[in-house]
Amino acid sequence: MNAQFQLDSLDALSFDNRFVRDLPADPEKINQRRQVNGACYSFVSPARVKQPELVAYSKEVADQLGFSEKLCQSDLFAPVFSGNHLLEGMQPYAMCYGGHQFGNWAGQLGDGRAINLGEVLNQSGERFTLQLKGAGPTPYSRGADGLAVLRSSVREFLCSEAMHHLGVPTTRALSLTLTGEEVVRDMFYDGHPQAEPGAIVCRVAPSFTRFGNFQLFTSNGEIDQLRQLVDFTICSDFPHLGKPCKETYLAWFEEICRRTAEMIVHWQRVGFVHGVMNTDNMSILGLTIDYGPYGWLENYDPDWTPNTTDAQGRRYRYGHQPQIAMWNLVQLANALYPLIEETAPLEKSLDIYPQSFQQGWQDMMAQKLGFLAFEETSDKALVDDLLAILKLVETDMTIFYRQLARLNINIEKLNDIDNDELMAPLKDAFYVTEQLSEDYKESLGNWLRNYIRRVAKDNRNDEERRSAMNKVNPKYVLRNYLAQLAIDKSEQGDHSMVNELLELLRRPYDEQPEMEKYYEKRPDWARQRAGCSMLSCSS
Ligand code: AMP
Ligand code: MG
Repeated sequence: MNAQFQLDSLDALSFDNRFVRDLPADPEKINQRRQVNGACYSFVSPARVKQPELVAYSKEVADQLGFSEKLCQSDLFAPVFSGNHLLEGMQPYAMCYGGHQFGNWAGQLGDGRAINLGEVLNQSGERFTLQLKGAGPTPYSRGADGLAVLRSSVREFLCSEAMHHLGVPTTRALSLTLTGEEVVRDMFYDGHPQAEPGAIVCRVAPSFTRFGNFQLFTSNGEIDQLRQLVDFTICSDFPHLGKPCKETYLAWFEEICRRTAEMIVHWQRVGFVHGVMNTDNMSILGLTIDYGPYGWLENYDPDWTPNTTDAQGRRYRYGHQPQIAMWNLVQLANALYPLIEETAPLEKSLDIYPQSFQQGWQDMMAQKLGFLAFEETSDKALVDDLLAILKLVETDMTIFYRQLARLNINIEKLNDIDNDELMAPLKDAFYVTEQLSEDYKESLGNWLRNYIRRVAKDNRNDEERRSAMNKVNPKYVLRNYLAQLAIDKSEQGDHSMVNELLELLRRPYDEQPEMEKYYEKRPDWARQRAGCSMLSCSS
C-alpha cells in the first residue's frame, strides 16, 4: 500500500458497522448468559484487562488495514487491541449462532469469548471486521469465562498468518497481546487446573459468519431472520451474485460448496488438521476459522487427529476432513431449505462439493508431484500407490514432497540405479531407519521408477519441475513442536521465537538457508509431549 495512504493514528480510523446497522439486535443490553431469540448479535463490551502488552503483530495485516508502522508501535495499539480502549465508532458485539458439535445439534452457542469491535474499510474499499478473541464474557459464554490463554493465542496468531502465506483461505490475525492477568485452565480436563498467562488475539476477516448462524434461525423457526441474514450476506460478501431471490440463494449455496471444497483441498495439500470441524467452526466465506486443537501431519497418517477430545471416534481426523465438510454442507442445506422449499435443486447444488473437491484434489496432487496435469489413466493409480506407501513406514509428509522435487529424472539410467541410491534424496523424511526393510525399499523403489517414467512423459526439465513443485510443497510449516517451543519461551516472557516463526512462515516456500534448523522432523521428545502431539479444546 502506498505510504501516503497509511494511517499514523488509531484515532483517525473510521468504522462502517454494516452488520449491526442492518441486522436485528438482541434488545437486552445487560451482559448476562442467556438464550437469545430473533437476533443476529448482542451488544457487549470487552472486559477491562490489567496490563495490555503487545507480543507480536502481523505487518501484512496492518498494511492491509492501512496501519503505518508508527501506528502499530504507538502506545494506544495494545490498549485498543486488548479491548481496554474503545475508539470512536466502535460498536462491540458478540454474534449469535448455533451448531452441530461432533455430529450432534448443540443449540445456541454464539461468540462466548469473541467480541467484534466493528468494521473498517481500507483505501481500496475492502471491508474488514476486527474481532478480539479472549476479551471477556458475553451473553453466549455459557459456563465458561470468556478468556483465552497465551498458549492457544500464540497458536491461533501464528497459524492463521502461516496459513495465509501458504495460500490457504483463512481468517487473519492482526495482533497478539498479553492481558497481564492469569487464567486458570485444566488443559486435559483431568483435575489439574493451572494458572496460565491470559492473552487476546485480534482476528481480522471480511466476516466471521458461520454455517451455525443460519442453522440457529432455522432451528428456532425464525425464518424472517434467516432470510434477512442470508440477504445481508449475499449483498455484502457475494455482491456479484446479484439481487437476492430463490435462484440467487441456490447460486450462493453453490459458491459456498465450491469455496469449501477449495479450502479443504488446501488443507489436504499442506497436511493441516483442523481438529474441530463443528458447523459453528465453518466459515460461510470458505475461510479456515477458529484455530483450536489443530495440528500438522508430521508422519503421514490419514487417521491422525491432534484433538484428544476426539480421540475415540476420530471424527475430525486428517483423512476424514473432505467427508466432514460434505456433512457440514448438508446441514447448511437443511438450514437453507425454508428459503428454497424444494429438495431437488438444493441436492443438485450440493453436488458441486464432491465435483469441485474431486477436481481440485486431482489437480493439487498433480501439482504436488510436479506433473503438468492429472492424467486419469496413469495418475490415479500412481497417487493411490504413493498414499499407501507413505503409510507403510513413518514418513514426514512435508519433507517427503519437498525432497521429491530433488530427484533427478534420468530415465536412461533407471536400470543401473539401485533402490538405495534412488531413494537417497528422501532419506531425511523417514523417522525410523529400522523400518526401511528390503520389502519396503522395493515398494518405494518401484514407485519411484514409475514416477520418474511418468514425469519424463511431460518433457519438462528438472529445474522447471522442481521450481513448480516447490511452489505447492512448503518447506516450512508450523510444526506442532515448533509452536510449543515458542509458547514455552513466551510463557517465560521471551517472545523472540514467536516473532522468529512469524518471520519464517511469511515465506514458507522459500529455501531460507539460514533457517534450515526449522526444516527438521519432529524430534523424539515431542512424540508424546502435551501440546506437540496431543491437544484438547481447553484454551
Ligand atoms: P470452539 O469449538 O472452541 O470454537 O468453541 C465452541 C463454543 O464454546 C463457542 O460458542 C465458543 O465461543 C465457546 N467457548 C470456547 N471457549 C470459551 C471460553 N473460554 N469462554 C466462553 N466461551 C467459550
Ligand atoms: Mg468456534
